Amino acid sequence: MAVKLMETLVAFCKRRGFVFQGSDIYGGLKGTYDFGPLGVELKKNLRQAWWTTMVYERDDVEGIECTHISNKLIWKYSGHEDSFSDPLVECKDCHTRMREDKMVDKTKCDKCGSTNLTEPRPFHLMMKIDMGPVANDEDYAYLRAETAQGTYINFRNVMDSTSRKIPFGIAQHGQSFRNEITPRNFLFRTREFEQAEMQFFVEPGTDKEWFETWKNIRTDWWIKQGLSEKNLRFEPHSPDDLVFYAKPPTGDIEYKFPHGWDELEGIHNRTDYDLGTHTKNQKEFDIQATVKENTHSNTKLNYLDPQTGQNYIPFVIEVAAGLNRGIIAVLNEAYAEEDLGDGKSRIVLKLKKHLAPIKVAVVPLAKNNPELVALAKDVKNRLQKLGLGRILFENTGNVGKAYRRHDEVGTPLCLTIDFESLEEKPASLTVRDRDTMKQERIEIDQIETYVLNYFKGE
Ligand code: ATP
Repeated sequence: MAVKLMETLVAFCKRRGFVFQGSDIYGGLKGTYDFGPLGVELKKNLRQAWWTTMVYERDDVEGIECTHISNKLIWKYSGHEDSFSDPLVECKDCHTRMREDKMVDKTKCDKCGSTNLTEPRPFHLMMKIDMGPVANDEDYAYLRAETAQGTYINFRNVMDSTSRKIPFGIAQHGQSFRNEITPRNFLFRTREFEQAEMQFFVEPGTDKEWFETWKNIRTDWWIKQGLSEKNLRFEPHSPDDLVFYAKPPTGDIEYKFPHGWDELEGIHNRTDYDLGTHTKNQKEFDIQATVKENTHSNTKLNYLDPQTGQNYIPFVIEVAAGLNRGIIAVLNEAYAEEDLGDGKSRIVLKLKKHLAPIKVAVVPLAKNNPELVALAKDVKNRLQKLGLGRILFENTGNVGKAYRRHDEVGTPLCLTIDFESLEEKPASLTVRDRDTMKQERIEIDQIETYVLNYFKGE
């Protein structure tokens, strides 16, 4: 089951500490959200799952982390400074501002239905900031609008320092900033968001094949994060939407969000545009994309194939995911309201184990009993050392309520320490499973092995 309404998800996220409105106590700041105690864990786990698949499990991708603030020349040559804009339409009656390509009906205001609209005009999305102690027209920089540009300008640094040969990729995740006209749909469209992007550099001519390979890898990855196949599809960009340098079938992996089908991750064939536009001595290379003449770059971003002697500007296949959109998608899929019979029901978050914000809750049956508490703390400390993520000592004294609360936040296992645990030899505890609600006794001596085996499985 999935959440039917975005409002349900928003309320759930606030109630359980996943996501809060940004700047909340001062009335909020549109298009910004803060991640709460459970949201920060969920996001960290999703990010780690991405990094593990994209970097650790491959031997042809390296990681990188670039600054959020960067030299304005990057954005001049990337084309963002001139043309990173969305078409803005304003309603002359109620003054609502809308992004033309996202309007429900392009002839009517989304809010009041008026047809009295301005002509669309380009609205620049880059966030400009003053640099240094004196604000003036020259000393400005941009907050990055995507992580990809930092990756392109470090192409030679990474290739030379790691002795990589084409094909290889560079992965990067981090915050990006866009002055979105209409932030909306919760975390879906915000002004600050986290991207997880990988640029894969390939020989021209092999790009089509690599495009298909990455499209499939990325779709499979989302399924492994718990998204159902029926809620995912690939949509190629129409010729009208295709940026001038991209090569079809550039498009998006779309997910069926509570607000409808929409982009989750871009899969782009960016040709040799990016390295071609940022390279020094462009004329030395046979650059296929149309690029601005670069008079500032001090580095050649070409590849000299040691075997064939070919010297070329590599093509880029980019896979560009949004972690915040990913959070909505995994929560949407995992959220279920279950009827337990006899008028009882529960909310359960059936997150994949590796994404669960709390892996195990250790609950002493009575909170005031020093022996129970000491044993529970000891079990918690032992499990914490396994490095699986957060293990919580849950000292509320009401086991039934603890189970319900942990079902709701997706904790896969609750371990209860009861009076028998103190008396039995060998001592044991109760393990309760989130999905089946089944309980079993496990010897405390075996608990590390049990928990490790449990989390090793899918
Ligand atoms: P859209 O068409 O929805 O504005 P985009 O095509 O401009 O998105 P890309 O530039 O391809 O997006 O960025 C890669 C990914 O970054 C997107 O697939 C999305 O998951 C995420 N992303 C982009 N803009 C936002 C935003 N404003 N808020 C949250 N995530 C975003």
